[in-house]
Amino acid sequence: MNVHSRILAMPRSVISRTHLAQYLLTLHEKYALFRDHTKTQELAEIWQKTFLEKDLSLHTKQRQILCNSLRIDHYIHENVVLGKNIVPQLFPLIESSIIITDRTVYPLFQKYYNTALREAIVYTIDTITGDALREIIDNVMKSHAQFVVGIGGGRVMDILKFIQMKIIQMENGKFFLAFPTSLATHVYASPKIHVLPAIAELGYQSTIDGPVPDLVVLDTLFLERLQQTNPRLIRAGLGDIMAYITAVEDWKLAEMNGKDAINNVVVEMCSDTIKRLHKINVQLPLSQWIQEYSFIQVLLCNITDWVGSPPASGSEHLFAKEAEEGIHPPPLHGELVALGTLIMTKVQGGDCQRVHNLMKTFQLPTSLSEIGLTVEQAVSAMQRCRSYGRKKERFTIAEIVDFNKEYSQQIIEGLIENGLIHE
Ligand SMILES: [Zn+2]
Repeated sequence: MNVHSRILAMPRSVISRTHLAQYLLTLHEKYALFRDHTKTQELAEIWQKTFLEKDLSLHTKQRQILCNSLRIDHYIHENVVLGKNIVPQLFPLIESSIIITDRTVYPLFQKYYNTALREAIVYTIDTITGDALREIIDNVMKSHAQFVVGIGGGRVMDILKFIQMKIIQMENGKFFLAFPTSLATHVYASPKIHVLPAIAELGYQSTIDGPVPDLVVLDTLFLERLQQTNPRLIRAGLGDIMAYITAVEDWKLAEMNGKDAINNVVVEMCSDTIKRLHKINVQLPLSQWIQEYSFIQVLLCNITDWVGSPPASGSEHLFAKEAEEGIHPPPLHGELVALGTLIMTKVQGGDCQRVHNLMKTFQLPTSLSEIGLTVEQAVSAMQRCRSYGRKKERFTIAEIVDFNKEYSQQIIEGLIENGLIHE
C-alpha cells in the first residue's frame, strides 16, 4: 500500500471539512517533513480505520442530505456538527419521531425552544428497567417513525446507542439523532455504551462496543445557556479529559509489563490535548471555545475506537468508578475523574501542583465534600482500585503499588496537608 497516496484519498466530500481530518492531515504533514516513517504508518492505519473502512452507507448519504439543509458552523467529525440555534432547524423533520429523554431535561428543552413536538412519542428513561427498555426497542422496531432522537446527557445517550445497536442488528433503517444537553461527558460521540442497570438486566456485564449516533447536533446557544445556569454540567467534561495525564502513564506501564502495546501517535495526541486544555479559558462564553472543547471530546472518543480505552481511562477512572459506588445522587463523573487524576498523579510521582492548577483553572471542585465524598470514602475507593482493574482487565499503577488502607490514607491525607485537596 502506498501510504502517502492512501492517506490523502478523500472518499467523501465532507471529510476534508472536519476538524478531525484537518488535525490528522496536519500531523501527517509534520511526520512527512521529519521523515518519521513509523508514525506515518501508525497515522495511516488510524486514517484507514476512521474514514476508509466505513463505506458510503445509506445513513452516510442521509446524513449528508440532512447536513446540507443545516447552517453548520463547525464539522467536528462526520457525524458531529456544531451551530448556533441549529436544533430548531430540524424540528419539521422530527415532528413525529420517537424521543428518548429524561424527565428533568425534556420540559427544559421544550421551554427553551418553545416547542411541544406533540406528534412525537416520548420515552423518559429516569427509572427505566430492563423490561421497559426491551419494550421501547420493540416499539421502535414496529414504528414507522424515521427518526429516533435522544435529548439529554450521558445516560440518555447510552440508552439511545443501545437501542440503536439493537435496531441495527435487526437491519431496520432508522436514523438516530442526538441532541446532547450537557457536555459533562463525551458519551454522545463515543461508540462505548456503559452498562446502566437496565442494560445489565438484559444480560450485559461490561462496556459494550456499540454504534455512534448517525448525527450529533450541538447547539451552541442552548449549551451556552446551560453554561450560565449550570456551569458544572459544562466544565465536568474537562475533568474527564484530564484522565490522559495519568492514564497514558498507566498505559506505558502496561507496555513495560508486557500487558499492552502503546501507539506513539496516540501518546502524542494525548499530550497535545493536555496542552490544548491549558489554553481553554472557561470564564469566556462557551461559544468561544465550544468547537475546541467538542473537538477534544470527539478526538478522545476516536482514540478509544482506534486503540481501546487505556490512554483515556486508567487508575483515575478505576478510582472514579469505585468512588461513585453507593453514593446517591452519584457525583459528577468528570469531577471525580479530575480528583482521581490528582490522586494517581501523586501515586505515580507526577506534578500534583500542575494537576491542581488545571482543576482550579476549570473551576472543578478540589473539596471532597463538594464533590460528594468523605475522606473515608475516598480512601476506601482507592483500596478497591486493584480488584476493579482486574475485573476490567486494565493494567495500571494499582498493580504495582499496594493501595492498602494505610497507604491510601497517607496519599489522601498528604494531599490535604499540602492544600491540594480539602475535606
Ligand atoms: Zn470518563
